[in-house]
Amino acid sequence: MKKTILTGIRPTGRLHLGHYYGATKNWVTLQEDYDSYFEIADVQALTDNFNNPDKVRANVREIAIDLLAIGINPNKSTIFIQSMIPEIAELTIFYSNLVTMSRLYRNPTIKTEISQKKALFGNNGEGVTYGFVGYPVSQAADITAFKGNLVPVGEDQLPLLEQCREIVRKFNSIYGDTLVEPEAFLSKSKRVKGLDGNEKMGKSLGNAIYLRDSQEDISKKVMSAVTDPNKIKKDDPANPDVCMVYYYHNLVESDNLNTICEECKKGARGCVQCKKELINSINKILDPIKEKAKYYEDNPEVVDKILLDGTKRAREVAKRTMKNVKKAIKIDYDE
Ligand code: ATP
Ligand code: MG
Repeated sequence: MKKTILTGIRPTGRLHLGHYYGATKNWVTLQEDYDSYFEIADVQALTDNFNNPDKVRANVREIAIDLLAIGINPNKSTIFIQSMIPEIAELTIFYSNLVTMSRLYRNPTIKTEISQKKALFGNNGEGVTYGFVGYPVSQAADITAFKGNLVPVGEDQLPLLEQCREIVRKFNSIYGDTLVEPEAFLSKSKRVKGLDGNEKMGKSLGNAIYLRDSQEDISKKVMSAVTDPNKIKKDDPANPDVCMVYYYHNLVESDNLNTICEECKKGARGCVQCKKELINSINKILDPIKEKAKYYEDNPEVVDKILLDGTKRAREVAKRTMKNVKKAIKIDYDE
């Protein structure tokens, strides 16, 4: 029997290079060998966008278009919408008894995200909501509803996955062996940095190159990327390790990577030339993705049908898990 993959993406914006190299490029490969479920996590997106439902709604289809454009094949994989699977919300309630508040507050990802969202949650996180602090619990419900064995994610997700594993162990130890304990699966580029040098390129951080950015936007963004501040003149030697342009050359596996590095160190290449070459490398990767996306942009009804069909298939699986869970907790009254 094939093993199962469950992973998700929040409809808070389109896909960027961080998602692509950090996670979703892997999904395309993995779908060949695994029973694959890709969740568009609108319920989770609402935890910190509850005041902006239009944004979440609009990005559900945009994310689906991006996933299809990079090569997720709806005949092999299931793409579905989280809010249309009420069993996930139901599981969340039962799992929430198995997690302490202090454990959730200690979660490093939650801590970082609260500190990044001062406008919403206050300078010291004093305004953080129950729903936001609890989203790792609902993420555990996402994964276990599909009995996911493997969860291909970026590095920022590891503490959330650990939380899920703890819930599974606690559930199974109290109610008997019911849930599957998942494992994380990281890409080679497990945390892609932002254009501004920030540790993470993020949709909500404004430092991303999106897969469907126009060539013009890509040019502008790359031209503004941070290079070695000690390189003043074109022929000054520089340190590629502190240069975001070299960092992205490496990420997108530009041709002649070694030459770029050596020339940079020797002061034999100017930053403008180097940026132009990077723009070309990025365009070579993104042009075919944009081309494929165009078909889905022009035919949104095809995208919506893929989502609804996928969600229907996914719900059947989640219903089966829900049955097992209710039996284990002894609340299977209608059996
Ligand atoms: P948001 O800011 O709304 O949380 P996000 O950019 O973090 O958006 P998610 O939808 O939360 O995107 O993440 C989807 C997947 O992409 C996750 O597996 C996450 O780990 C991965 N991912 C996101 N950003 C990066 C990054 N910069 N490097 C590596 N992986 C990433
Ligand atoms: Mg995120």
